[in-house]
Amino acid sequence: MKISEIILYDEPTVPEIQLEKLAEFLQKTFPVKVELRKNILSYSSKDTAQKIAACKIFNLRRDFEKHIPTPEEIAFEELNIQDTSNTENIIMYDGFHLHKVLTDLIPKDESRNNIFHVFFTNKLTCTYDYNDYRYHGRALIGANPSIISTTGIIEAPAKPREYYFELMKNFTQGVNVDFVKEKFKGTYLEYHDSRLSKIIEGYLLQTIFYYETGEPFCENKDCKLLNAHWQKDLIHSQLDFGKLCEHHQYVLEEMIKKNQS
Ligand SMILES: [Zn+2]
Repeated sequence: MKISEIILYDEPTVPEIQLEKLAEFLQKTFPVKVELRKNILSYSSKDTAQKIAACKIFNLRRDFEKHIPTPEEIAFEELNIQDTSNTENIIMYDGFHLHKVLTDLIPKDESRNNIFHVFFTNKLTCTYDYNDYRYHGRALIGANPSIISTTGIIEAPAKPREYYFELMKNFTQGVNVDFVKEKFKGTYLEYHDSRLSKIIEGYLLQTIFYYETGEPFCENKDCKLLNAHWQKDLIHSQLDFGKLCEHHQYVLEEMIKKNQS
């Protein structure tokens, strides 16, 4: 393995990440040392707030256009750096540009191939897709460093189709939609979902597999490397099944062997 050490940077507003549990999982899976740290934004420099504000997306239907932030937007990001619970509804950020800003915050002497950095964030990271010419929320951005967006995990994989149909039907009839949410409860992840930590294990495996082998995903729904487009599949692959498929278990074992030889 290229990696000998993994550093996880916390998102303190989402305690359901359970960093210690993830460290345990990683150490059980790979022969690596794991270090836990505060949020990557605690390494911010003077111009970080301005750079983050410049990553905001305003038009979902157009590829990234660099935004010149207003003093208010910069002040907002400065507050958010001090305490990430200082936030508004959901702001969308271009994932690749945010990735670059956060990558620059890694201490220089730790920017090495054998140290793998993972930043957790509550910011919604998005990428522009040329297949349908629009931005989509993403749970995972990049590999070493990787950003794992807890908001992306909840917002990006789609909820059941029936959920949207019922929501729309009742919404247009002016009926309270809370009962629709209640009816589908459990079939998708919610904010502060206690299942989040287990779900994150899969995203960690995907990004580490990508870094080590170039192949992050599996087609098999019975595998933690499934690139789930639906909440249902995410929950199935990470919780109901909750392991690697036979093939990827073998790939993992080979990866580890290479480490020892
Ligand atoms: Zn697999």
